[in-house]
Amino acid sequence: MISVADAIQVILGEVQPLGSERIALTQALGRVLAQSIQATRDVPPFRNAAMDGYAVRAADVGTAASNAPVVLRVLETVGAGKVAAHSVSSGTAIKIMTGSPMPDGADAVVRVEDTQEDDGTVHILVHVDRDTHVRHPGEDMRQGDTVLAAGRALRPADIGLLASLGFAIVPVRRRPSVAILATGDELVELGQPLTPGQIFNSNAYTLAAAVEEAGAIPCVLGIVRDTPEATSQAFTEAFTADMVISTGGVSMGMFDLVRQTLTELGSVERFWEVAQRPGKPLSFGMRNGTPVFGLPGNPVSSLVCFYVYVRPALRAMQGLAHLHLPAVPATAAESVRTAEGVTEFVRCFLTGEPGAYLARVTGSQGSHVLRSLSLSDALLISPPQIGTIQAGSEVRVMLLSGEAATPPV
Ligand code: AMP
Ligand code: MG
Repeated sequence: MISVADAIQVILGEVQPLGSERIALTQALGRVLAQSIQATRDVPPFRNAAMDGYAVRAADVGTAASNAPVVLRVLETVGAGKVAAHSVSSGTAIKIMTGSPMPDGADAVVRVEDTQEDDGTVHILVHVDRDTHVRHPGEDMRQGDTVLAAGRALRPADIGLLASLGFAIVPVRRRPSVAILATGDELVELGQPLTPGQIFNSNAYTLAAAVEEAGAIPCVLGIVRDTPEATSQAFTEAFTADMVISTGGVSMGMFDLVRQTLTELGSVERFWEVAQRPGKPLSFGMRNGTPVFGLPGNPVSSLVCFYVYVRPALRAMQGLAHLHLPAVPATAAESVRTAEGVTEFVRCFLTGEPGAYLARVTGSQGSHVLRSLSLSDALLISPPQIGTIQAGSEVRVMLLSGEAATPPV
């Protein structure tokens, strides 16, 4: 049986970043840049005032003080977006607003609070040095500078930065489309009545949400009945997507048809069964460059496998640098019996501060008990050589959000 660490490496050795597309900046939040961005101009583009006040020559006001004001003649008023008609010469000033271009001849701004206006003149009450309250071209970004690296998921400040450079369209990685199949004769779609022996198809909803959270596009293809024909037909349709994930039908049961069907459709299985709990029957293969995950049917198993294996693959396909959920140190608040010989992911919630987390188990660890995953902030990672985690011992927990460059295991 393959280890968790090796299984992650096998998957990441197979998946490739998708191509790029050009989209409107208004749609780009959270999308991943396909190319690095160079500043196409200086920002700010011109010398301008950082305060509302008066553009002056610093040499004129070197002696100014509240008890010894310097009086300057005011030539004009310049609002933001306007350009002064005059230049400032000795003995004169131009009234100026934040963001207005600095007039020629002026080399400093005196704040309006430090002046008194009086019938075409202004009394300057403080002295200022050259460049006081003056913003220079390129102080924010200089033309030619690399300001955003390829592989960056765009955040609000990045969107603004691109806008301030004039980019209305940005090159981003395509979002992977993910076909989601739920196999099982017992499954019923929401809105339909449940008859004895049946359950709702919850996995498709869980996984569609997880796919979306990972930045990809879920395509839920519905319930697949446990017959070779239905399974084959559903997967054939699914392989038009960039990735295929199914749930159920990968164990040892009589009606577990997923692996056999995938092989018949030309998928090459890279591994089946991982030394882990939950999620042991995970199958991963490739078909003509398309990754296919046969996730276990149990609701917790399928979502834990998603977090550990599918999410990093989807992030790699989007060209992100940090693929994994972060694993951080914590202290076990109670002792926990775990399976020896496999990596066990124990659902837990955290109290305390980052760096000093206390991890407590959320309840029953049955792989059908989704409630204890819903209650959890993290998965405590119990390595294969550990059979009992002692209360008070140092452990590692994988958080259920965030990003890290290295795998949790
Ligand atoms: P299987 O691997 O197909 O034997 O399924 C394992 C367990 O997961 C069984 O108890 C199934 O009823 C359950 N299961 C399978 N698929 C789903 C699904 N889509 N939603 C909720 N539970 C499921
Ligand atoms: Mg089944």
